[in-house]
Amino acid sequence: MDKLYRELVDLPGAPSFEKPVKEYMRKNLAPYVDEIIEDKLGSIYGIINKGYDGPKVMLAGHMDEVGAIVIGIKKNGLIKMSNLGGVNGDVFLSQHMDIITDDLEKIPGVTASVPPHLSRESGSSTKKLVFTDLLLDIGADSDEHAKELGVKVGQQIIIHNNFTVSKDGKKYFSKAWDDRFGCGISLEVAKEIKKEELECELYVGANVQEEVGLRGAETAGNMVSPDVFLAVDTSPCADVFDGDDISGKIGGGFLLRFYDPRAIMHQGMKKFIIEEAEKHNVKFQYYKSMGGTDAARVQLANDGVLVATIGMPARYIHSTTSMISEDDYLEVKKMVMIVIKALNKAKVEEIRANV
Ligand SMILES: [Zn+2]
Repeated sequence: MDKLYRELVDLPGAPSFEKPVKEYMRKNLAPYVDEIIEDKLGSIYGIINKGYDGPKVMLAGHMDEVGAIVIGIKKNGLIKMSNLGGVNGDVFLSQHMDIITDDLEKIPGVTASVPPHLSRESGSSTKKLVFTDLLLDIGADSDEHAKELGVKVGQQIIIHNNFTVSKDGKKYFSKAWDDRFGCGISLEVAKEIKKEELECELYVGANVQEEVGLRGAETAGNMVSPDVFLAVDTSPCADVFDGDDISGKIGGGFLLRFYDPRAIMHQGMKKFIIEEAEKHNVKFQYYKSMGGTDAARVQLANDGVLVATIGMPARYIHSTTSMISEDDYLEVKKMVMIVIKALNKAKVEEIRANV
């Protein structure tokens, strides 16, 4: 995978702390776009083909990753945390996490857990953990010591796992595929799409604060006011577990998210995307989810927006690490390029007529 993905996933960026990611986006969009715009919460977009008399098309990843925030320091120097984004507390036992200071220095720590020798008798080892039960141990001897080391209430806490390649060289692990992957696709599209191939005004970029309730999508959607919105986001696959109700497999191609509780895919968009995928032999799989993406929020802007999520299959997202495959990455990228090139005035009218 391009080195830009390695750089993107290793940046820190819990919800509302996306600045390093935003600056990375700005730097890498700038050479390829006519103008860069930003809303007041921090979502950032580059405009390509500015002023073109055609539909406004918006392509977005989201810059934030699941993480936590310092909410207090105990007398004994352990750090109290609250999660930012939906996580399962059990998964975060004994994990390396870093507090990120205001000047982006890392204070490494490990989440404190009670070893079985101590918990056996009380039976507490079978209790379900919630994230806020956990404490972060940075090796401080007292609250004063923790402050001396640079800890302050309100700082972000980030999972430590950085970019790693599997032995077969075709899968990639990281703390932040959700959704630096989508940020990377936006940057690649900006670089590779040619103006003369476009019959639309294209906005490529990424939103903030997706993981805490699609907040950036609302403000960015209002800023751009698009006709068509494409979210590129990772979605969880349960393909390592048995069961009939499985949705999404690694290596199965992009996820056509036909249903989630917050967005039933626009029937015209579904027809359009399936037709284009079949015409160009892009591998895809039908996908239903119990979560939502930024598409759910943008679809409700103004008098409605034609939205779709081009999903990237990923295992173990919202845990301390996740995994994606090179094959799916290529299919997602191919599909996004095809969809953008196919969108023009007539096509948007045709999609609208199919609802
Ligand atoms: Zn996401």
